[in-house]
Parts: sequence; C-alpha cells; structure tokens
Amino acid sequence: MFWSNLTKNITPYESGEQTYDREYIKLNTNENPFPPSEFITNKLKEAVDGSLRLYPDPDSNKLKKVISNYYHVNIDNVFIGNGSDEVLAFSFMAFFKGKKYISFPDITYSFYSVYCDIFEIEFMTFPLNDRFEIKSDNISTDSKGIIFPNPNAPTGIYLEVSIIESILVRFSSIVVIIDEAYIDFGGHSCVSLTEKYSNLLVVQTFSKSRSLAGLRVGFAIGNSNLINALERVKNCFNSYPLDRLASEGAIAAIQDSNYFTYCCNYIIESRDMLADELLLLSFDVLPSKANFLFVSHPVLDAYSLYNSLKENSILVRYFGKPRINNYLRISIGKKEDMITLIKYIESILRKNS
Ligand SMILES: *Cc1c(COP(=O)(O)O)cnc(C)c1O
Repeated sequence: MFWSNLTKNITPYESGEQTYDREYIKLNTNENPFPPSEFITNKLKEAVDGSLRLYPDPDSNKLKKVISNYYHVNIDNVFIGNGSDEVLAFSFMAFFKGKKYISFPDITYSFYSVYCDIFEIEFMTFPLNDRFEIKSDNISTDSKGIIFPNPNAPTGIYLEVSIIESILVRFSSIVVIIDEAYIDFGGHSCVSLTEKYSNLLVVQTFSKSRSLAGLRVGFAIGNSNLINALERVKNCFNSYPLDRLASEGAIAAIQDSNYFTYCCNYIIESRDMLADELLLLSFDVLPSKANFLFVSHPVLDAYSLYNSLKENSILVRYFGKPRINNYLRISIGKKEDMITLIKYIESILRKNS
C-alpha cells in the first residue's frame, strides 16, 4: 500500500541468474571469460588510496579524454555513465520521454521495454524477419525514436553500417540509438557516422569486450547537442555516476589494447568453433557477431536442454518468450568450456536416439 501506481505496474528487468551455490560453467550473462589484465588490476590497486575520501570528477574528464582519443572524436562528443544500462536509461529520459511512439525490434534487449514502462513512454515494435534480421522497411514512419543493438541481442545478428546509415537518412528528424554492447566481436562500429549524423547516438560498454562487468562503465558517443542533453539528465539523478576506481580501471582497459585484441580474437575463434560443432549436431545456429550464439535444435526442446545443462553445472540463458521459446543463448567461454558443453550435448543426443 506504500507503493506508487507506477511501482505497482512495472515489470522490472530480469537479468540472467547470478548463482553462488556452486561452481558453474557460466554461459548465461555474456560476461568475458578472461579476467581484466594484470595491467588493469594493478592500476585499480594503485587507485585504492586516501583520495577515495574525495568525490570523483563529476564529468569523468580523464576517461572521456581517453575514449575520445581512441574513437577520434572530441571530448564533448562523449558521455560516461555507470554501466551502459544507465546511459541507456538517461537516453530514454533525454530523447524519448513524452514521445509516441518509440520503435525497437520485436525481439531485442528486454531492458528497452522496461525503460519505456518506468518512464511512461509508449513504444511499438517492428518485426524481425523469419531469420531474425532487421528489415528497415518494417520500421514505422510514425516512429519518434528508434533503438536497437548492433549486433542485436539475444540473436547476435549484425546489421551492416550502410543499412544503419540509410536508416539515419530516412529518419533524420528523430534520435536513433545504436547499442553497440557487442560490437567488438567482429562488427564495425557506427561511431564514425556520428560526425555526419547529428541524430545518431552510439552506446557502448566496458562490460563485455573489456572484461569489466563488475566495474560498471558505459559510454555514449554522439553530436555534442545529444551529449549535452544526457549531461543535463545525469545531473538531475546522480552527479557522480563513475567512482574513482571505475574510472582508473576503464582508462587502463583502453590503454591495454594488446590484451583487448587478444581476448576479442580468442572469443571470436571460440564462437566460430562452437558454431561449427553445434551445426554438426543439427542445431540451427544464427550467424553471430557477438560473444554468444543463439541456437535451436529440431529435436531437443530448448527449455529441457537448459534444465539438464543446469543440473550438470552449465548455465545458459533461456527466454520463455514468443518466437524464441525454443532457443537458447549461449555465451562464449574458454575453448575448454565449449568442449565440455559440446560433449555434454552429444551425450544427451545419444541418450535421446
Ligand atoms: C549487456 C548489455 C548492456 C548493458 O551493459 P552494462 O553492463 O550495463 O554496461 C546493454 N545493452 C545490451 C544489448 C547488452 O546486452
């Protein structure tokens, strides 16, 4: 009875299970199988000192500078937040609130509809085709804002930059947000388009390709006009979203580019190996440019497979939702873990035959 109607009516986002009861091969939340490098953890340890007494820089200018150099943009084209989920929440607030309708794919990151609910934004979805691809013709011209991940989640399917550019042209009077949480696993970023298209906001995170999900750092790149809007919203919620440690860790992660490249290449190889093996076992494997695969089997029921994998200490993600209720999302891990997974699936298939 103490709750507001809004609180009563929202359905919060459900993240993948974080289990602490026993050791799992954890392939359910797209975390990086590699820990942050020693260079990064040393920088973090060095940052633990008396300065923690003080508030951090509210604008994270040091990190902004490093990111702006890395992506060849100006510092006023960068916004930093406490994880990209926060950056996305601020973006919905800054660009979408009060507008009707905001468009995103029918199958996509489920946080988008949650933001719409909490901020009371009306949305409509556009259907992916039967191979789960985005078809830009399906996006309604009535849209007052567009958002989708590239590669899309949970499908892993990548959309060519040239098609995104055509969307930016066609919808030049509304904000288009491209959520590039998984872009470092083989796709091309749209960041370079932000110079030409003032309606484009690109959002990225340190949680996946940079092994820092635990530190909570995300950022957006776009025209300074969009970035300004985000700063205004941020300063109404939390003036200091990034703590001192997170900032130092993120800077170190950008600096250690060799380690970053090594981890991304390994994950791409491990993904392609797993895809080949699953194809041999008759799985339908959607083409992925992310650090996960989205798969379905003609005989094995996805939910039963999810459960039997869990009983055997392998966690994957199951979404009991229309169109995808016979699919599993498998995060890419170390090659040895992928082999364990394959062996286990083979043993189930043998039992079933
Ligand atoms: C993981 C993920 C994010 C959020 O990551 P943060 O950890 O909050 O930075 C955003 N978008 C998509 C599509 C994701 O999968």
